[in-house]
Amino acid sequence: MEYAIARRRMVERQIVAKGIQDPLVIEAMKRVPRHRFVEEALWAQAYGDYPLPIGDKQTISQPFMVALMTQALELRGGEKVLEIGTGSGYQAAILSQIASRVYSVERISRLARRARQVLDEIGCTNVNIKLSDGTIGWESEAPFDGIVVTAGSPKVPSHYLEQLTIGGRLIIPVGGRGSQVLKCIVRQSSDEFKEENLLGCRFVPLIGKDGWSEGEGGL
Ligand code: SAM
Repeated sequence: MEYAIARRRMVERQIVAKGIQDPLVIEAMKRVPRHRFVEEALWAQAYGDYPLPIGDKQTISQPFMVALMTQALELRGGEKVLEIGTGSGYQAAILSQIASRVYSVERISRLARRARQVLDEIGCTNVNIKLSDGTIGWESEAPFDGIVVTAGSPKVPSHYLEQLTIGGRLIIPVGGRGSQVLKCIVRQSSDEFKEENLLGCRFVPLIGKDGWSEGEGGL
């Protein structure tokens, strides 16, 4: 009950008041118990306006950033979506409330296992998690109506562009290790893409074949 009140307040003050308008995203943020995706000692902080540590030098993203990235995908229900960087599983849970199928890739096994457990406990049955280098996407399940990358990349990996449907949207932070620009790239035809910069952001590095190398990325 206490968490339901905190969650409602989070949605009013950090999501709606900051300009998120998509009713499907707002409803999803109201429903998913964010505190379950962090360790119990952090539950009291789970509805604050900031990222939180989830171990292995990784974070659960700020609620506003999760809402903004989800809204930028322009989901209407029934889509197939790929997330790169499962982390805690929270973004996947939000996506699972709107899309019909969510595929999520994580490179750290402890995080992938823990996310699977929490998603099962709260009944998110339409999320598939794979332990792998997500910089190459998830070819056997492509194409995707939306791809959301929740780690900062030095460039746009070509696999993501290839694995989008026509009309599909890619949301990805691109830039340096310390700060990036959140980009929205829409596939307009087999070889035409429209790109828009949404805002400046700061994500942990995307580490892998088409991202940063482990040393470069700071892990
Ligand atoms: N979406 C997550 C959530 O809701 O908690 C937050 C993700 S955290 C900011 C970024 C995640 O990306 C980390 O868990 C990190 O291990 C993962 N990551 C980094 N490089 C990756 C790669 N090449 N493939 C898959 N996951 C990767």
